[in-house]
Amino acid sequence: MGEQTGIQWTDHTFNPWIGCTQISAACDSCYAKALVEGRMGGDFAERRRTSAANWKLPRRWHRKALADGVRRRVFAPSLGDPWDNQVPIEWLVDLLDEIRETPGLDWMLLTKRPMNILNQLRRAFDAAVAAERSALLAWLYSWIHKRQPPPNVWLGVTVENQAMANLRLRYLLDVPAVIRFVSAEPLLGEVNLRAIPRPYDGHRATFDALEGKWMRIGDVDPGYVRERIRLVIDGGETGSTGRPTHTKWFRRLRDDCRDTDTAYFHKQNGEWVLHKPHPGGDLGGDVRSGRVTIVHPSGRSCSDVLNETGRSTEPGSIYMARVGKARAGRLLDGVEHNGMPEVCL
Ligand code: SF4
Repeated sequence: MGEQTGIQWTDHTFNPWIGCTQISAACDSCYAKALVEGRMGGDFAERRRTSAANWKLPRRWHRKALADGVRRRVFAPSLGDPWDNQVPIEWLVDLLDEIRETPGLDWMLLTKRPMNILNQLRRAFDAAVAAERSALLAWLYSWIHKRQPPPNVWLGVTVENQAMANLRLRYLLDVPAVIRFVSAEPLLGEVNLRAIPRPYDGHRATFDALEGKWMRIGDVDPGYVRERIRLVIDGGETGSTGRPTHTKWFRRLRDDCRDTDTAYFHKQNGEWVLHKPHPGGDLGGDVRSGRVTIVHPSGRSCSDVLNETGRSTEPGSIYMARVGKARAGRLLDGVEHNGMPEVCL
């Protein structure tokens, strides 16, 4: 529930509560649901606040971070969604107060519900007024009304495909934040973060979320703003039902980040790797057995479109073999990517 984490891009995970509701394709293989309903034997739809002892962890990490003279990242929550509006607002108020009280920690709040963020912040503000929590009130007032975000909060959204990028980034970009990030994990389709449909001044426009650049339809001159994505994390889908990720989709995000000076972190490849068939091997048989699958760049399944030699008739499709997460590893074209944005306080 806390302290140690197997997630490479954070130092700690903190779960103020546990429980959630699946809302998009990225939730299909939800690790938290499997954990709660499998090993813990609970009902994942029921939101449960964690113990008082667990809530003491962030202050301990904060003291240690100060003593060591290093900033530490905290991912919260990993078994729920920080902006879930089914959670009692008092729990969010307490979480925000923990964040306020631990400025030596960088809090990474990753959501699939960015449309809730501003409303949840306003609800938390009202609850803080009612509870006369003046320090938190001032902190929230600066964030919401003066648009001065706390320096230790990173806001992120999960983007598993283009539709979710188009939907979620628009909301994320509207919330003041010192660092915004994208988690493209599990990556289920090609995603272009550099042409998000986003109205500008009442006109149709596209927005380059990595450069912070508007381009109105029909205009030649772009407009630049400060709001942009500073970090992209990506990874394949893991677990027994993990779907394969076309290598082209990872490469696209890697290359777009490189071209825009955006930090890029490739977490893992999922369960599948590129398949190199043995000469004379029964490729069609491998595909039909499920050991090997065919992935089309569009994401649509094309395993049933085979010619007489077992080859796919779909141009651009690749063969991928299920080898498991450990063997698939986290190298992309032989390179480990561990990019993180610089924090300027
Ligand atoms: S939002 Fe996250 S925690 Fe909630 S169901 Fe989806 S994957 Fe699981």
